[in-house]
Amino acid sequence: MQSQRKFKPTFSFELFPPQSEQGIEKLRQTRRQLAQLNPKYFSVTFGAGGSTREHTLETVLEMQSEGYTVAPHLSCIGSTREKIHTILEKYHEAGISQIVALRGDLPSGMAQAGEFRYASELVAYIRETFGQFFHIEVAAYPEYHPQARSVQADLENFKRKIDAGANSAITQYFYNADAYFHFVDSCESMGLSVPIVPGIMPINKFSQLMRFSDSCGAEIPRWIRKKLESYGDDTASVHAFGLDVVTGMCERLLHQGAPGLHFYTMNSAELTAKIWRRLNIQSEV
Ligand code: FAD
Repeated sequence: MQSQRKFKPTFSFELFPPQSEQGIEKLRQTRRQLAQLNPKYFSVTFGAGGSTREHTLETVLEMQSEGYTVAPHLSCIGSTREKIHTILEKYHEAGISQIVALRGDLPSGMAQAGEFRYASELVAYIRETFGQFFHIEVAAYPEYHPQARSVQADLENFKRKIDAGANSAITQYFYNADAYFHFVDSCESMGLSVPIVPGIMPINKFSQLMRFSDSCGAEIPRWIRKKLESYGDDTASVHAFGLDVVTGMCERLLHQGAPGLHFYTMNSAELTAKIWRRLNIQSEV
């Protein structure tokens, strides 16, 4: 973890682009609430296969016009160089200079992988075409990506993204801080020294968390799963327990040198803000 201590911690919030008028209004409210906490930036996710692509651009440009610092996610699977270039051009013109560069996942039924196979190719393309204009974040997987051939292959593939020009990384969420520390140590031993910011998922609904975690390969430790299961529909107890577990893990991560936290807010301010206040984070901007 030594390499991480030299970075000034950054705290950020992830949002997703809403599809309905009601969702758009709710997101406006959520970001106003979250902005009071003074995050370094907001990121906005990007749907693979076209589902929410336009919504990402609209949301990002609206937030930019309101004065927020925004980092759009951009996934390349199923896309072409031309399409990716058009989006990057729009961000470039709008003065948006931070991108979360991803491969993404092909939606079921879509067979064409497109012109980019991996996120490292997207990172290389951004560097080739826009030089150093963008600060590029990439994804990291302390519990390893579900499609990785092996642990070592996944680490090497992560290194490819950094070697291609990524500046820093945000992790998939996890509830086992040791997985993160171990991952960072493995990266250090490969000579990587970029900030690797833990992705934090507040615990809201047990069934939703199980569904997400199954698909993205994040492990819910047995004791946490059992405890959450035992609360059934008692949302207040799920939240109270989740806040204790997640805040405790964040404290440990920061204490041991994690270079900030990135919250998966799920477009809701409440739980993220509670964790933030318990941690007493004074974000610098
Ligand atoms: P990559 O880094 O390309 O890796 C994907 C897999 O391919 C891994 O198993 C890797 O080991 C392997 N691989 C990489 N390079 C090679 C190579 N050269 N040869 C062989 N194998 C290789 N998804 C979205 O659709 N929209 C979003 O906005 C979004 N935001 C995210 C934000 C964060 C912080 C994280 C952690 C994930 C996000 N995702 C998002 C999910 C992500 O798109 C998926 O996890 C996807 O499956 C992998 O994307 P990646 O960029 O990590 O891919």
